[in-house]
Amino acid sequence: MIYLDYQATTPLAPEAREAMLAWLGGPDSDGGFANPAAPYRIGRAASVAVEMARDEVAALLPKGGRVIFTSGATEAINWALRSAAKLKPGGVTASAIEHAAVLQCVEAMAGALVPVSSDGIAVVPDAFPENGIAALMLVNNEIGTIQPVTQWVERVHAAGGLLLCDAVQGFGRIAIPEGPDLIAVTAHKIHGPKGIGALWIRDGIDLPPMMLGGAQEMGMRAGTVSPALVAGFGAAARVARERMAADAAHAERLWAIAQAEMAGWNINGSMQARWHGNLNLRLEGVNATRLLSDARGVAFTLGSACGSGSGRSSHVLRAIGLSETEARASIRLGWGRFTSEADLREGLGAIKSAAELQKVPA
Ligand code: PLP
Repeated sequence: MIYLDYQATTPLAPEAREAMLAWLGGPDSDGGFANPAAPYRIGRAASVAVEMARDEVAALLPKGGRVIFTSGATEAINWALRSAAKLKPGGVTASAIEHAAVLQCVEAMAGALVPVSSDGIAVVPDAFPENGIAALMLVNNEIGTIQPVTQWVERVHAAGGLLLCDAVQGFGRIAIPEGPDLIAVTAHKIHGPKGIGALWIRDGIDLPPMMLGGAQEMGMRAGTVSPALVAGFGAAARVARERMAADAAHAERLWAIAQAEMAGWNINGSMQARWHGNLNLRLEGVNATRLLSDARGVAFTLGSACGSGSGRSSHVLRAIGLSETEARASIRLGWGRFTSEADLREGLGAIKSAAELQKVPA
């Protein structure tokens, strides 16, 4: 199958897999199963592996903060928003195109949503509520647009608030802006394993923990840490840092090919302020759901993996002003490190042929 869904998840990097194997030891291994909180030699070795991985993840994030491992970005986001609200009770604000993890929290907390332009870039409000929290993603997971995080930070801080950046889709791919107070990331979008992510917390912010129990993760996130998942995340972060320029150049080359191949389709979202490993596009008159089944040798989607199955068209496409028909004629493609030019051309060819089929009267 040709995999063109890099915004949903990415293939595990061989380096990450290798790093994980050392911590998936059985009874005959020299402690490859140890609990990193244990005081004896093999426990300490596991703890060292966790700390080395923490340094690798931190190297992709701003200085002056702590990386606390979580089960993924969804947990990091829930923790950040719900706990930050205890420190800053002035209300929560987020862009209308955030991931479901943010949107559902904002809804549960009776927060407010900020609209986006037809290019898919969040408006920068003149003012934010005093002493509140705001959430803005770095790169949108459906249309790839890069958001004005620095401008939001300035205004949120002017109102005495805190800003959470969901950096999941930009982490390891583009530089993370310096200003946010809390940053949520996950391993599986950078060729690491699923089930592990982190919340970066700026020094000086005393975020109340969400998970209560043991004293793991500096007393901020209870629960036994998985050295295998963490080591895989660390290795993936190291490779992402080393290959950042090469990966971006590769994505850029594939973007140029895709744009040429899909001439005649309309691109959803800004052409400039975007990550070039994503292309969300629509063709008038096409039924994208039918396209998915007709081009079944290609893995691509209609929007976010989390939204699929809900039967609703994408909230992101509706927020940029597309009609229901336009949203239902839109597809999301994503590529990256392990996508070859030949695979991309073949995948796009299959999608175009499936679209042609729809022109033939049934
Ligand atoms: N935020 C964004 C922008 C995402 O794309 C995702 C991934 O689906 C998440 C948050 C959730 O991350 P996780 O799968 O680690 O819970």
